[in-house]
Amino acid sequence: MNKKKYGERTIQVHAGEEQADPTTGARATPIYLTSSYAFEDTETAQQLYALEREGHLYTRISNPTTEVLEKRVAAIENGVGALAQSTGMSAILLAVLNIAGKGDEIVSSNNLYGGTYTLFKNTFPNWGIKVNFVDTHDLEAYEEAINENTKAIYIESIGNPQLNIPDFEKISEIAHRHDIPLIVDNTCAITMVKPIDYGADIVVHSATKFLSGTGTTMGGIIVDSGKFDWTNGKFPQFTEPDEAYHGLVYSEAFGDKAFIMKARAHLMKDMGTVLSPMNAFMILQSTESLSLRVNQHCENALEVAKFLKDHPAVSWVNYPGLEDNENHEMAEKYLNGNYGCIIGFGIKGGLEEGKKFIESIELLSHVANIADAKTLVIHPASTTHSNMTYEEQIESGITPDFIRLSVGIENVEDIIADMDQALKKAIE
Ligand code: PLP
Repeated sequence: MNKKKYGERTIQVHAGEEQADPTTGARATPIYLTSSYAFEDTETAQQLYALEREGHLYTRISNPTTEVLEKRVAAIENGVGALAQSTGMSAILLAVLNIAGKGDEIVSSNNLYGGTYTLFKNTFPNWGIKVNFVDTHDLEAYEEAINENTKAIYIESIGNPQLNIPDFEKISEIAHRHDIPLIVDNTCAITMVKPIDYGADIVVHSATKFLSGTGTTMGGIIVDSGKFDWTNGKFPQFTEPDEAYHGLVYSEAFGDKAFIMKARAHLMKDMGTVLSPMNAFMILQSTESLSLRVNQHCENALEVAKFLKDHPAVSWVNYPGLEDNENHEMAEKYLNGNYGCIIGFGIKGGLEEGKKFIESIELLSHVANIADAKTLVIHPASTTHSNMTYEEQIESGITPDFIRLSVGIENVEDIIADMDQALKKAIE
């Protein structure tokens, strides 16, 4: 399918897929729930093992069902290739490890999903990778934090849960001035922004969120823009021989797909972070309605944010769609008329009232997830961000009264009615 000829929703329904399965004629992509593939002959087997030929040999490296998902998400994000992962965390892990190792550094926005923050703050240093955190909007701080060991800048497109929206163009300019790539976690803004169009080199997703959208399926995916020059002298892992493949040089063998091929053939093969083909199939079903769902999530969220703003039990509301929000300008610049599905708000009183609100909801679910078709609420300080110290929480905007809402696609009047009754009970 020539993606340039087709519109956004057509790509979400068709990209990566043949008109019919070549073997059976099945119209939908079948679930190839298989671990291994018969080789035509010994020479073909040898070529597959040496990465001299395209084809499937073992599902820890590639799979026909997963390949359709990878091609589809690459098309959605305007990349040249993608690699599906078992979770969003493994997508982030492999994207960074493909670039940085012992002695290297990363510069990262400090407004991150809690799991990513923990990986960067606690786990990477144990492996000799230092992460320097900077304020998402402080462009000078990115510049100052970069040194000769820095191998990438890392940001989230709508930071979860503070909802900071970075200036993609300016941050990618900084990265490229220093000959390093920009990695963007686009989980919270898929379809709203295509970071690659604004200079991102690598995009990662938790496919567990909008891409699946059903609260059923864990997954992750890395997308390669194909635009970064890995031969600029800073990344020997792409230009020097890989002994595991008889001296293969990724940049020479795979050109603009060097990054994603190394992530697949080296890291995923060694570390086994592969997505199950069953999950790839599940996520593929959801991609068909991706924009429809995302748009409905965002439309509902804007309504709910406006409702909360006027509610007597609410002390503050953080939603980039509100005109007085500090991220509104960036949202207008980059998010194509949408503002995401996450709303942060403070309940009057604080911790006890917050707990009472959560205990009073009837339709909404108290769940640690986002971008599910169902509306979800959580109290981040005691759950998703509880690994942080109190000081770290405050620095990341996680105050004790803060409630995070992930607005679903139900009828918005039902979401609002449930919130209203629970808010009233909370401050009774
Ligand atoms: N990135 C963001 C923005 C997230 O919100 C999450 C999970 O909530 C992740 C990454 C991690 O994804 P997963 O839970 O699929 O590992």
